[in-house]
Amino acid sequence: MVRRNLVAVAAPADAWYEPRVFTPDAVLVERGAEEAPMTRRCRARLPGVPFTVVADRRAARGRVGDDFAAAKRQLVLAVHRGSFLGYCPAGTRGLRCCNYLMMSFATNCPMDCGYCFLQEYLAENPPLTAYVNPEAALAELAAVLDRHTGRRFRIGTGELADSLALDPLTDLSADLVPFFAARPNALLELKTKTDAVDGLLALDPKDRVVVSWSLAPAAVVAIAEAGTATVAARLAAARRVVAAGYKVGIHFDPMIEHAGWEEGYRDLVAAVAAALPPARVAWVSMGALRFSSGLRAVVRRRFPGSRLLAGEQVPGPDGKWRDFRPLRVDMYRRIRSFVEAALPDVPLYICMETPEVWERVFDVPPPGEQALGARLAAR
Ligand code: SF4
Repeated sequence: MVRRNLVAVAAPADAWYEPRVFTPDAVLVERGAEEAPMTRRCRARLPGVPFTVVADRRAARGRVGDDFAAAKRQLVLAVHRGSFLGYCPAGTRGLRCCNYLMMSFATNCPMDCGYCFLQEYLAENPPLTAYVNPEAALAELAAVLDRHTGRRFRIGTGELADSLALDPLTDLSADLVPFFAARPNALLELKTKTDAVDGLLALDPKDRVVVSWSLAPAAVVAIAEAGTATVAARLAAARRVVAAGYKVGIHFDPMIEHAGWEEGYRDLVAAVAAALPPARVAWVSMGALRFSSGLRAVVRRRFPGSRLLAGEQVPGPDGKWRDFRPLRVDMYRRIRSFVEAALPDVPLYICMETPEVWERVFDVPPPGEQALGARLAAR
């Protein structure tokens, strides 16, 4: 089997993204968004950055063309006109899912992970965009929550964007956290690879907000997660939000096989356990490195020679390519043993895998989707 050799890879020299202080090269404001409070906040927080009002956000595409990296350095502020709410795409037929809803307050991300599915998903519309009308999203969500008071919802904002990367500019968390704090049947998950948590610290989440970090061994971060905060910085930020009353989620996703992976994940779990009290960890998830065929092609073009593509992979029921099943099961089981030893009683689940894989990892059949979602929401 071909192994990914990530050892002795230096951290990327080009640190154009400073966690907590992302500064775009330019801001384009779509007409209609000029007077929104979020636009005013961005202006105040980016005094040296040119703001240009454009008739249509498609002008942003014209400026960056097909340069995906350039699209990440120019921020578009626009009014979102469709629905903000959707089901997580993990609910593909044949894969076990956890009944998760997503809200999209932004698209794209200032960081640049080599495995990020947005490289393909947003290829036709890549400009980094923040929506300035979160009140419309919260009104839409409130109507759903009020209609289903007997159901518990888990809702994430980290599907089409990092949940916190733009927060120092937009202050979106000041709208979201009080909304969820007042909602007994909903739990918000903010998923990030930054340490941009300052905006959360003075808010009271009332146990309704989980701040989650995706974590990987340092060798993986160095070759595949350009512009993200270091693992140490992410864990320091996690400690700060725990002290402020939040729960924390941990995602070992994507889990990346490489020479030394076992020690890497063992040490990572130990670092999490040393940083966080288990009672404040809402859940831990695991997920395999996965690529659609289209994403593999994009990664080959954007990151020639990427070591992420060096491992042998096979297509799964959803058409995505993953490492061979025995290898995935071995990794899941090893990480499960580390997590269960270091973080007892913390719910652990797998994302985007078949029931067969789940059973091989946990030695019992997977819970039903409603049951898994309810168990996680209850945390
Ligand atoms: S932090 Fe998340 S959204 Fe941003 S590039 Fe990495 S995987 Fe994509």
